[in-house]
Amino acid sequence: MNLFYVINLLVYAAVDAMACLGLSQQFGVAGVTNFGFIIFQAAGGYAAAVMALPPDTANGSFQSYLGGWGLPFPLPWIGAAVVGGVIALPFTFLVGRRLRGDFAAVGLLVTAVLLNLLVTNYRPFLNGDAGLSLIPQPLQPSGAVASAGSQWILTLIAIALAAAVFWFVRRVTESPYGRSLRAMRDNDAVADSLGKNLLSLRTVMLVTGGAIAGLSGGVLVTYITTWSPAAWAYAETVVLFAAVIIGGAGNHWGAVLGAVLVPVGFEEVTRYIPTSNNLPPNLIPSLEWVAIGVLIVVFLWWRPQGILPERKRVIRVSSPASTADPVSGSAPAHVPSAGWQDSGTAGARRPEAAGDDGDRAQRDARGPARPPSPQATDDGARRSQVAPQVAAAGGDGSPILEVRGVVREFGGVRAVDDASFAVRRGSLTGLIGPNGAGKSTLLAMLAGTLPVTSGRVVYQGQDVTSLAAFRRARLGLVRTFQLASEFKRLTVMENLLSAVPGSRGDSFRGAVLGRRYWRADEQAAIARAQAVLEQFGLAQYANHYAGDLSGGQRRLVEIMRALMARPSLLLLDEPMAGVHPELARRIGRELTRLCAEGMTVLMVEHELAIMDEFCDPVVVMAEGAVLAEGTMAQLRQRAEVVEAYLVG
Ligand code: ADP
Ligand code: MG
Repeated sequence: MNLFYVINLLVYAAVDAMACLGLSQQFGVAGVTNFGFIIFQAAGGYAAAVMALPPDTANGSFQSYLGGWGLPFPLPWIGAAVVGGVIALPFTFLVGRRLRGDFAAVGLLVTAVLLNLLVTNYRPFLNGDAGLSLIPQPLQPSGAVASAGSQWILTLIAIALAAAVFWFVRRVTESPYGRSLRAMRDNDAVADSLGKNLLSLRTVMLVTGGAIAGLSGGVLVTYITTWSPAAWAYAETVVLFAAVIIGGAGNHWGAVLGAVLVPVGFEEVTRYIPTSNNLPPNLIPSLEWVAIGVLIVVFLWWRPQGILPERKRVIRVSSPASTADPVSGSAPAHVPSAGWQDSGTAGARRPEAAGDDGDRAQRDARGPARPPSPQATDDGARRSQVAPQVAAAGGDGSPILEVRGVVREFGGVRAVDDASFAVRRGSLTGLIGPNGAGKSTLLAMLAGTLPVTSGRVVYQGQDVTSLAAFRRARLGLVRTFQLASEFKRLTVMENLLSAVPGSRGDSFRGAVLGRRYWRADEQAAIARAQAVLEQFGLAQYANHYAGDLSGGQRRLVEIMRALMARPSLLLLDEPMAGVHPELARRIGRELTRLCAEGMTVLMVEHELAIMDEFCDPVVVMAEGAVLAEGTMAQLRQRAEVVEAYLVG
């Protein structure tokens, strides 16, 4: 086998592996669909070319380009990565908080096509469709024929760079920050409501992905010594997507495997198809495209997870019972917890356990709420697991939330019409009303998921009307959703961990600094999540994918996840829908206990028995407006309420 042929294969494998790793991080891990990925590779390649080339007058001006700085190796490659990252910045407006993912993807695709047209047709910029050639290779005198020795060194450097990219991508994605990325991928609106800054997460993904693509382009161009716009047609992005999907999106080895199988493998296989004069010259390349298209469809249909599926992040907890309440001796871990499931196998959990909890609620109510402490080991251990981030004396009567004349219109329809009421600190306030009354819409506006049409939302004395949802969540105003909203491809444990605020590893910087920097924080969060799981009897599901649980269990995951955020005010949208009645009442008791500790809850619920038992006061909505407010007993006295809701 020809030596140069092997070198060629290895360089292409390294370049494509880098690109696929960058794309896999963007698309497979973070869910940012970038149909313009190839732009960044092309830009990196171009940057490396003009940095390495002498001024364009040097070779008799046969090609024209900007730059031509004749920089020594490895500066052109560093420049390639920087340029790839920097040109990603203007695209962040496409993937911001508001634009839906598919729109952003199309926007990037269109940009890729436009840029290719521009480059091809505007000669002074990049020498037009002729592209650039005679790009100097490092490690050899200019003009000399490439020697095998220098080519080998180049190859080894390319492979080392691919390994470095692998290491970097893994460090970022296998961290609490990476978990936030996967949470955003699974459900961005929910991640937003849990305090994740989507714009920042996506910007980092675009910039790091762009830098990796740029670097890979720089390496490639240096190796082949030419740069031509035709080689970077937007459709090349499809090849990379095919590689990532076939290899296994979100799996780092999958990205490498995909790179070897698709871009490199296809090129090689088609090489051996005999060409005959009877066939049209473009037949083989065209068939290649058809084959890639078919492969994508086949995989998306039969094996969407790819050859190497995304790895499940199993988190083992050393001793499950160690974090449970050591004083009462009734560590929930020892109690069969089937009663918490909605499967109807109630009874496994002892009935007296309920009384036990009642006692605890009373005992907890006596003590003042304390600042959260993840490592608490006294009898406040259970309480501290979900204590609100702002310690507040429960039920001093002052409002934690004021809703002032809030309106929301959809087209001409007023879904919420001038709603005004206040939520008392420490209360478990109910919100009822017939279907379509505007309850969910109102909750969405309170949490910032939806902007108000008019009116004001005042939370803890601060006007938060124009504050983004993730910022409200960071202030302790956390919501759940009416529709199932668990992060499906995160385990139950990861769902809970994803909501922990201010964790050291939950930033790009923290992730890059590495496990040693964030391990202690993560351990504390795991211990807390484990305690919450035991409290709600779902500990044995910690390492199940949340998407695989039953409906009732998933509701529970959402409630636990919201509690992990240490909310001061928790907005619950029908948390007990589809939940076994027994379990619903247990959730009610747990919420009552948390309110006694200083948390406040505003809960939408259909079941009036739940309202009767747990909620005071109850706000009634009908046709977008607040109709009445009071205890359930008071509301039953009022004719208009009975008419609007209680009977009909
Ligand atoms: P509830 O939660 O009380 O059942 P919703 O807040 O879901 O009520 O809906 C209130 C009204 O607003 C309904 O008439 C519903 O059709 C309408 N609505 C809700 N969301 C949207 C939307 N995104 N676009 C248009 N109309 C909506
Ligand atoms: Mg609703």
